[in-house]
Parts: sequence; C-alpha cells; structure tokens
Amino acid sequence: MKHDNSKCMHCEGCAAVCPTGAITVYETFVKIDEILCTKCGNCVKICPVGAIT
Ligand code: SF4
Ligand code: SF4
Repeated sequence: MKHDNSKCMHCEGCAAVCPTGAITVYETFVKIDEILCTKCGNCVKICPVGAIT
C-alpha cells in the first residue's frame, strides 16, 4: 500500500479499520507494515482524502 503524506490529515481512521494492525499513525507520518498487510482494502475505502492507494 502507498501512503501520500501530503494528503493525510492523520485522523487515524485507517488504523482503526485495519484488521491486522498493520497501520500506525504518528504525528507527522503513517507507517504501513507490508508484511502484516493482507491487502484487504479497508484503509483505502475509509480514508476521507484518498491518501492510501
Ligand atoms: S484515514 Fe487517510 S487521512 Fe486518516 S490517517 Fe489514514 S491515511 Fe491519513
Ligand atoms: S489493506 Fe487492509 S490489511 Fe493492509 S493496511 Fe490497509 S486495512 Fe490494513
């Protein structure tokens, strides 16, 4: 998954819907663990600004 930090509002919505805990939202960036990620697409759907693709 790709995360665009210039669009992100750091709302933590993506981390809340990730079933594997692959997303950690920090104050200035978001980390997606590609090993934990199952490519379920939840984070892409929930993100209000389309920051994850
Ligand atoms: S849901 Fe989108 S805007 Fe919110 S923290 Fe995740 S990537 Fe950023
Ligand atoms: S695609 Fe699914 S498993 Fe991967 S980071 Fe997004 S919500 Fe988590």
